[in-house]
Amino acid sequence: MKIGVLDLQGAVIEHVRALEAAGAEAVRVKKLAHLAGLEGLIIPGGESTTIGRLMEEYGFLDALRAMGRDGFPMFGTCAGMIMLARDIAGSDQSRLGLMDIAVQRNGFGRQRDSFEIDLDISALGNGPFRAVFIRAPYVSAVGPGVEVMAALGDRIVLCRQGNLLASAFHPELTPDTRLHRYFLSFVSRGTG
Ligand code: GLN
Repeated sequence: MKIGVLDLQGAVIEHVRALEAAGAEAVRVKKLAHLAGLEGLIIPGGESTTIGRLMEEYGFLDALRAMGRDGFPMFGTCAGMIMLARDIAGSDQSRLGLMDIAVQRNGFGRQRDSFEIDLDISALGNGPFRAVFIRAPYVSAVGPGVEVMAALGDRIVLCRQGNLLASAFHPELTPDTRLHRYFLSFVSRGTG
């Protein structure tokens, strides 16, 4: 399986390693031509305004919007989740807007800039998933086609809409590859 990692800014190499550990071939995507032949794409964490500006500049916004609507699997982590969201509270920054979700940037506030916590994610089977949050967003509202997979109180931190998966945390920063494998499983199955 050949999966891209959008390589404009942010935590790229960690996703490359996690994909390889999960048994996929990882491709660093720096320009549009690198999307050819990929079966899915990870949009990493970083700074969403910067990633959005660069995506616009290099033509990724239009291309990925069309591919996403066509069923191309994408997994956005942290800033990548923000890129997938339709609604970003208080911001008109560039985005793909493919997922019917509303996000709050830096939603956990200053006191909890960065933290780790065990999440219960039933889709991943047994055992808690250690999740690393870094100036993380959360999802405050989802449309009817969105499956909520994990939350902290009323803050949604993992959700899926068909071919699109979004996490507020950084699954690439721990050795647990279950979430990457989960993404690969619906890449190979096709999502319709
Ligand atoms: N706070 C960042 C943003 O709003 C996201 C942080 C991250 O990706 N770790 O873009």
